[in-house]
Amino acid sequence: MPAQIIDGKAIAKQVEAEVHDALAKLAYTPSLVAVRVGSDPASELYVRNKARKAQELGLRGTELIFDAAMSEAELLSEIDRLNGDDEVDGILVQLPLPPQIDAKKIIKAVDPRKDVDGFHPINVGLLHLGERALVPCTPAGVMRLIASTGTAIAGLRAVVIGRSDIVGKPVAALLLQQNATVTVCHSRTRDLPSVAREADVLVAAIGKPRLVTADMVKRGAVVIDVGINRVEGKLTGDVDFQNVRQVASWITPVPGGVGPMTIAMLMRNTVTAAHVRRR
Ligand code: NAP
Repeated sequence: MPAQIIDGKAIAKQVEAEVHDALAKLAYTPSLVAVRVGSDPASELYVRNKARKAQELGLRGTELIFDAAMSEAELLSEIDRLNGDDEVDGILVQLPLPPQIDAKKIIKAVDPRKDVDGFHPINVGLLHLGERALVPCTPAGVMRLIASTGTAIAGLRAVVIGRSDIVGKPVAALLLQQNATVTVCHSRTRDLPSVAREADVLVAAIGKPRLVTADMVKRGAVVIDVGINRVEGKLTGDVDFQNVRQVASWITPVPGGVGPMTIAMLMRNTVTAAHVRRR
């Protein structure tokens, strides 16, 4: 029997409804500020969608757009201003930044309590310590999608392909927190297919279209495809969906799987950040 599809769009809607309900119980309206420097068309779309979704759910969503020639010192001073503004609950700086600005410096400058992307070293550290943290949005979305299948993660073998700071590493930390036995693979992993085949839960965050083929997947595995690749004008994941679907028990499509979860989790993080900081 082919794998059941994990419907990211529907699950993202559930998260959004939860955010909407949580907002109704607050005496204030949390606010999210999305910062963009320059006019990269993809960043423009991402930032606009984030600010719009915030407004749609009843948060205050603002876009701050700066010229591509802005200096690092100027951006640091803007971040400082947002950190000090008591009305701002979440700050997100859309990456990539222009070459004259060191993204790492900017990430470290954001108040960790307002770091709704979960990229600040304090939040990264707390996550790895298993303590309460603002968790990066895509990894948090991945965990919610796995949870939606009813899979009890504890004791399972989980394999994460990809070790980026924004996806692979935090996903691995979250799976470990839930007591999976976790292996993290990357471009230097030897015999990736045999490692991947051990996975009860397989997460692909690589950025290589259809790298994960059916022979790399254990029968009955839960397969989460984080990849977004454009192939001949079409969005394609890192997993060979049609063939892997014949082997897995659950699988996310691309598009419509992990993608919709990221913004929903960002909204949830904004409410969490507001709640923790304002209590
Ligand atoms: P990244 O920073 O480029 O990391 C890719 C990872 O894949 C690296 O760890 C790399 O290994 C590993 N890798 C590359 N080729 C490999 C191979 N042949 N075998 C095994 N591992 C290999 O990418 P990312 O930012 O994590 O993003 C991964 C994908 O997810 C991209 O397609 C991206 O567009 C997508 N994404 C989607 C969302 C969403 O909302 N759905 C959010 C973020 C990212 P090394 O470390 O050894 O180089």
